[in-house]
Amino acid sequence: MTENGTSTQSARQGEGALIVKETGCKSILTKSGIKAVDYAINPYVGCEHGCVYCYATFMKRFTGHEEEWGTFVDVKVNAAEVLATQLRRAKPGNITLATVTDAYQPLEEGYGITRACLEALVGYDWPVCILTKSALVLRDLQLIKRLKDVEVAFTITTMDDEVRRRFEPGSSPIPERLDALRTLSEAGIPTWAFCGPLLPFLSDGEAEIDALFGELKRAGVGYVLVDSMNLRGASWGRVRKLLAAHYPELVDGYRALSTDRKPYHVALMERTRRIAAKHNLTWRGVELDTGGTEAR
Ligand code: SF4
Repeated sequence: MTENGTSTQSARQGEGALIVKETGCKSILTKSGIKAVDYAINPYVGCEHGCVYCYATFMKRFTGHEEEWGTFVDVKVNAAEVLATQLRRAKPGNITLATVTDAYQPLEEGYGITRACLEALVGYDWPVCILTKSALVLRDLQLIKRLKDVEVAFTITTMDDEVRRRFEPGSSPIPERLDALRTLSEAGIPTWAFCGPLLPFLSDGEAEIDALFGELKRAGVGYVLVDSMNLRGASWGRVRKLLAAHYPELVDGYRALSTDRKPYHVALMERTRRIAAKHNLTWRGVELDTGGTEAR
């Protein structure tokens, strides 16, 4: 490790260098703005997964980053120590890891900040939800089993791994996520899947949702939580650029959704609810404009 506050550049295969900065934090257990989530733990600022539709890019404003989302990560090297102190003083509540980053992005393999935070949580009975797009979470399976009240969720927005690579370039391939869900479920860990945002015209059709929910049922998830794509704000420019490069015929359709999402959202909720019932899968939908899901 370098000293706190210094930067390093780590080369990623086939991509530009990732700018990594080790920082300290004063608080790591933060009140969440998400409905039904009391606290968030975000061990990193920024995210190597670099999802094109990511809603957490507002973190750049808060942290003075001008680099493109997905090209920088700040590592909160003292997170576990700060968490241990906060846990002794805070009012108990449920915790989600993570809401504006992915706690199991590739850097976690070397840094182990998330792992150290989970170790700090052992012995507390606060409900913990780990939400990720990375099969690296399996590294900590034995540790996760030691938590008293824990669930692990995977975000899966498409079954097509080529589409996944374009929209979520640094994340685990879909087959790895499904395998990880299966492994966790077989180990007795409650799991669920966040199917959001389903990708308009790419993964939101009857056949695509049917295939996805069938796989999730076989992987043993307890339920699915569905959301539609929110194209307001910073994500629209990034999504439009990707569409122009790979799916130019979809630009107009997405533009229409960026100005009026409600009818599309309502129809998607209805469609997914019906298909989930066919698979005997418990369904939940994200309500429009309820604080949503910060990053995913
Ligand atoms: S959506 Fe989640 S996994 Fe993707 S870049 Fe944003 S924080 Fe990372």
